Amino acid sequence: MDLIKVKADIICHGILANDLAEQIYEHQNPSEMHKQGRYFGIMIKLDGKVSVLANVLYENVEKIGYKLVGNLDNLSLTDLDGNVIAKVTYIDPPKWYDKKTSTNKKTSEIFIDEGENYLHMTYTGCDYNKCNLKCKFCGCGERVNDSTAEEIAEVVDFAKDERKYHVCLGGGTYLPLPRSTENFLNIIGKIREKSKDIPVWVEMVPPTKKEIKRLVECGATSFGFNIEIYDEKLRRETCPGKGAISISEYIERGKYANELLGGNKVGSTLICGIAPIETIKKGIEDLTKNGIHPCILAFRPSENSEFATKEECDTESFYECSKYASEKMLEEGLDIFRNEGCLLCEYCTIMHDLTREILKK
Ligand code: SF4
Ligand code: SF4
Repeated sequence: MDLIKVKADIICHGILANDLAEQIYEHQNPSEMHKQGRYFGIMIKLDGKVSVLANVLYENVEKIGYKLVGNLDNLSLTDLDGNVIAKVTYIDPPKWYDKKTSTNKKTSEIFIDEGENYLHMTYTGCDYNKCNLKCKFCGCGERVNDSTAEEIAEVVDFAKDERKYHVCLGGGTYLPLPRSTENFLNIIGKIREKSKDIPVWVEMVPPTKKEIKRLVECGATSFGFNIEIYDEKLRRETCPGKGAISISEYIERGKYANELLGGNKVGSTLICGIAPIETIKKGIEDLTKNGIHPCILAFRPSENSEFATKEECDTESFYECSKYASEKMLEEGLDIFRNEGCLLCEYCTIMHDLTREILKK
């Protein structure tokens, strides 16, 4: 069985909910914070080599092909007829989850331990939501319970020696946009007081070149500037807030950030399952020509989003676009394994797996 195809299928359609999936979720998420679309997500590894953040579903299960069987010490993935496909292991929660900040907050309310060594900031809400300009695929609500820069830096400091972590900052946009930059400058400044070397990847609507320079000087080491939809008209309809900054401006700002950081440090998500495949491929070509890593994500309907009832991405399109992106990156001399943060993490995309496979041939 081709485990990359199985992973693609799991990313698009999830796995069946059962008590084993629930127990793994409980084990991995002591504070019940989760970013996955429907219900919940668990991080598992197939045959010790293919990692996936699997969405676990209770309903809309017609397209699901897999479930977990066995027990927590001897776990397998099977098809729905019970044929074993792979041995399954899962990551344990880190020790820093047991700590609390000096303000008495649980660390897992500030960062989620994801993809083995990524500290992913929890989503606190997005200001585009307040003015009805939210991206239609996004389930993010209004901003609640922001963590302070001091709390964020404290948790990074707790975590940094346990694994070779990368910090993934994001968690929604502040408006007006310069407030997002100021917010990240404040956070990165505090992180750098205690943690000099940890990679800090920032996912944000691309700020001006002057602001990018300030962020890099402050200690940002990589960026995700997410175009999402590579068609201006469809993008403005789907992402009315961030669609106000054009695709060409995203690319210009991404190129500039990459120049400052020495290359292979800027990426952009392209969502598969909303725009036609040809549009996504055009995006892949333009991004890779400009040194920006495309990150192909599968559209999955999120609760609380306008696209909640829209059809999810099909496995074949997701696989085709991901393969095209992996090939184009290699053709343009881009190295997926030198990026950072969510662009290096293997749990939400199949591009790392495909790149390894292409390089082996
Ligand atoms: S910018 Fe769009 S995708 Fe990002 S958090 Fe806001 S609404 Fe969601
Ligand atoms: S790619 Fe990012 S969002 Fe996905 S599991 Fe990894 S750290 Fe989390």
